[in-house]
Amino acid sequence: MSTQLQQLVIKGKILTAGDAEYDNARKVWNAMIDRKPAFIAQCTNADDISECVRFAKKNNMIVSVKGGGHNVAGNAVCDGGLMIDLSKMKEIKVDFANKTATAEPGVILREFDAATIQHGLATTGGTVSDTGLAGLTLGGGLGWLMGRFGITADNLLSAEMVLANGEQVTVDEKNHPDLYWAIQGGGGNFGIVSKFKYQLHSFGPNVVAGMILYPMEQAKAVMSFYREYARSMPDELMAYSGFIVTPDGLPVTFVLPAWMGDIEEADKHIAPMRAFGTPLADMVTEMPYTALQSILDAAAPTGIRRYWKSGYFTELSDELLDIVLKYVATRPSPMSPVLFFHMRGAAARTALEATAFGNRRDQWDSDIISQWLDAADDEKNITWTRNFWKEIEPLTNGVYVNHLGSDDDPRVANAYGSNFERLKAIKKKYDPDNFFRMNNNIKPA
Ligand SMILES: Cc1cc2nc3c(=O)[nH]c(=O)nc-3n(C[C@H](O)[C@H](O)[C@H](O)COP(=O)(O)OP(=O)(O)OC[C@H]3O[C@@H](n4cnc5c(N)ncnc54)[C@H](O)[C@@H]3O)c2cc1C
Repeated sequence: MSTQLQQLVIKGKILTAGDAEYDNARKVWNAMIDRKPAFIAQCTNADDISECVRFAKKNNMIVSVKGGGHNVAGNAVCDGGLMIDLSKMKEIKVDFANKTATAEPGVILREFDAATIQHGLATTGGTVSDTGLAGLTLGGGLGWLMGRFGITADNLLSAEMVLANGEQVTVDEKNHPDLYWAIQGGGGNFGIVSKFKYQLHSFGPNVVAGMILYPMEQAKAVMSFYREYARSMPDELMAYSGFIVTPDGLPVTFVLPAWMGDIEEADKHIAPMRAFGTPLADMVTEMPYTALQSILDAAAPTGIRRYWKSGYFTELSDELLDIVLKYVATRPSPMSPVLFFHMRGAAARTALEATAFGNRRDQWDSDIISQWLDAADDEKNITWTRNFWKEIEPLTNGVYVNHLGSDDDPRVANAYGSNFERLKAIKKKYDPDNFFRMNNNIKPA
């Protein structure tokens, strides 16, 4: 192995088992993932990435790519191959005059948001602030601003990429337009992005948002009200809803509205939600955009055990809600939320064929996020999730690729719908040997 290692020369560090930083570098958000790469290459620039790609190709090694390390499937880490770790590449540059920003692939959402919002600018991100910008963008990017500005991938103007042969290319509307289309939702299948360029929008810095909590006895009524109200909301109003257990052990239903427009207009649109039922708590208030961007952080701490199932629902039907209520009443871990995030507005209106991102419509992205601490509880949590999923899966309509779990390979096609065949053809053109396969894999046509 050491002679092999001598062939890999990069500016960044190369870690192997036994190095002090090795175990930390191979850790990801989901503690169920415990893989041991032969080498971890902590790249510092595009040349380092090209060097890693050529080295792995020459030595016939499997490659995995780590951005923020947040994906539940854990494909950022491989067993025995070369892990290309981009998490040290953190540069962000905001061009205030042109309302654009570039970011390197190790940037996480809270770093990007902080850099742009200080100029009164933002673009759509996700809803948990330590998520990596890279994986989020490449898979799509659903966030609080998608009603107004589309998904994150819609705001991707260009990318610098390293292809499967190590070549470095610029990808945008004019250069490799097929590849540009493919990386707007097609994930890490086509190459490694060393720099992203985004469209920013004048925004903030404040929003009006907050959780409204209800006792479980009101759950069905609240969700029934919410599903109707959600259909009539303007693009500026977004809302999560779902089922959590409070820190003091009380199972509750919640609605989490977020007004992403002029502050003076907020009350008029959120008031009907606040007036419904008899909440246990109403935390709706004006807050900085960055506070909203981290409002769910505490519910998703890094480094605990996870098993996740996800799909889209075009209706929150009574049948669906009855199954959900049955299962949340028997959840083995109080740490496990069931969430419904409404995809709507500009994100849903953009033409399906405009980007690779599949399944655009007014719908709820729903996640059963099983989380627990002790490995001894793996089986009961996984079994509960699978049984729950078995009952609701027939009601789903596609899935968001970034929310697929480690055993969800057969569902990749469902994430792309009618865009899948074109993606397979582009994969064949740019990566015919499926060199980039530690991902939600699109096999070459
Ligand atoms: C708690 C939690 C909350 C989330 N909330 C949201 C949300 O609100 N909205 C949303 O849209 N998504 C959300 N996600 C999903 C998230 O978008 C994905 O998990 C995403 O893959 C995370 O990106 P990452 O860079 O951190 O992941 P990583 O695990 O580092 O990477 C995931 C995959 O992306 C690819 N990849 C990463 N970087 C590159 C690169 N530079 N070039 C090529 N390929 C690359 C690789 O295939 C890699 O396996 C959430 C996930 C979690 C766990």
